[in-house]
Amino acid sequence: MASVKFARKRGMLTSVRGTGHNVAGTSLCDDGVVIDLSAMKGIHVNPTARTARVEPGVTWAEINHDLQAFGLAATGGFVGTTGVGGLTLGGGLGWMVRKYGCALDNLLSADVVTAEGKLIKASATENPDLFWGIRGGGGNFGIVTSFEFQVHAVGTVLAGLVLHPLSKGGDALRFWRKYEESASEHMSNSLVVFTAPAELPVPDALRREAIVALGGVWVGPLEEGERALRPLREYGPPAADIYQRMPYSAAQTMADFLWPKGLYSYWKSSFLKSLSDGAVDTILDFYAKTLSARTVVVVEHDGDSAWSRVPEDATAFGHRSWPYNMVATTMWTDPKDTEANINWTREFWEAMKPFLADAAYVMLASVSLGSVNIVVTTML
Ligand SMILES: Cc1cc2nc3c(=O)[nH]c(=O)nc-3n(C[C@H](O)[C@H](O)[C@H](O)COP(=O)(O)OP(=O)(O)OC[C@H]3O[C@@H](n4cnc5c(N)ncnc54)[C@H](O)[C@@H]3O)c2cc1C
Repeated sequence: MASVKFARKRGMLTSVRGTGHNVAGTSLCDDGVVIDLSAMKGIHVNPTARTARVEPGVTWAEINHDLQAFGLAATGGFVGTTGVGGLTLGGGLGWMVRKYGCALDNLLSADVVTAEGKLIKASATENPDLFWGIRGGGGNFGIVTSFEFQVHAVGTVLAGLVLHPLSKGGDALRFWRKYEESASEHMSNSLVVFTAPAELPVPDALRREAIVALGGVWVGPLEEGERALRPLREYGPPAADIYQRMPYSAAQTMADFLWPKGLYSYWKSSFLKSLSDGAVDTILDFYAKTLSARTVVVVEHDGDSAWSRVPEDATAFGHRSWPYNMVATTMWTDPKDTEANINWTREFWEAMKPFLADAAYVMLASVSLGSVNIVVTTML
């Protein structure tokens, strides 16, 4: 409140930083005030009510680590290093999206510092318009200093991926598309195309070419999950199967190795109209020509789920009708490779255009909303 009043009195440009995770760097500003919330690390769990109150400097790995002690989990992102604040205010698509919706669907209330520097509460009963706006409107309506979430009894989950070499990826993706048509809501799956980093222990077949990985997290009765996952785990068969039972807190961080800190990034994202044959072939053809082994392409299956049943106008986060969300995360280490990687990403996105919905997830977008996102930055 003091920082807002300070900046307001002097008419200074102001930005708000959660954990600084967004690759677009929207939490920073030049020649202005950065209100940095990253030291606000409080987490208070109420196991009886199954709620958690979380401050805006907390990451998803941190909250789900604390909740695990109670057999509980919060619906957050796919990566543990992501901040709770920015992700929740934009939407929050993650490993339990099909069962429990996105992060903002689980927000019960928030403490908000307004542009006047006042502290108010937003919930379904207090300042309901503001509550509608902060659920999907990003950081545009004030600074959230505390989030109250509904959390869930989750405990142990079945999580992992099956890995196929890129050359067999087309058939594997067509199989997966069919498999997802009847996939239970206990399951939130993605396809991930990446190149094995040196430290990843994979068979030789997956070192010679890129990897098409399919899978995610099953939250529900484990025996039922073993049965439901069998077709996915047997198809091919895959070159590797890394599914296992694990605490949800471990599943929360299992993909972190793909997005380490400090890389140059140029990302594009959009919901997909469908995962058509053309989309599958374009993704695989372009990845085969990628210039950087750090680049990762993800397609999440979010649809036909608790998430898609929330009415589009219930919160400021619309776009509930698209079954798949895609993000091309082009990343590299040497600044001299910047132009080539940007050009590759642009050509890839141009080729994807026929398959993209005219709708993008705000937290993966930056300069230009719609079906594109333009970012060159390094993660802090
Ligand atoms: C590697 C990686 C993986 C990702 N995975 C996912 C994913 O699985 N699912 C998903 O939904 N998104 C994902 N994202 C996008 C993610 O939602 C954003 O990066 C999110 O903004 C990160 O939150 P943060 O608090 O660190 O944000 P910051 O970078 O600190 O801020 C992002 C924006 O939110 C605003 N903001 C942040 N906190 C507050 C606050 N408390 N009050 C007001 N405004 C605030 C900032 O002003 C800024 O405009 C991913 C991003 C990356 C880089």
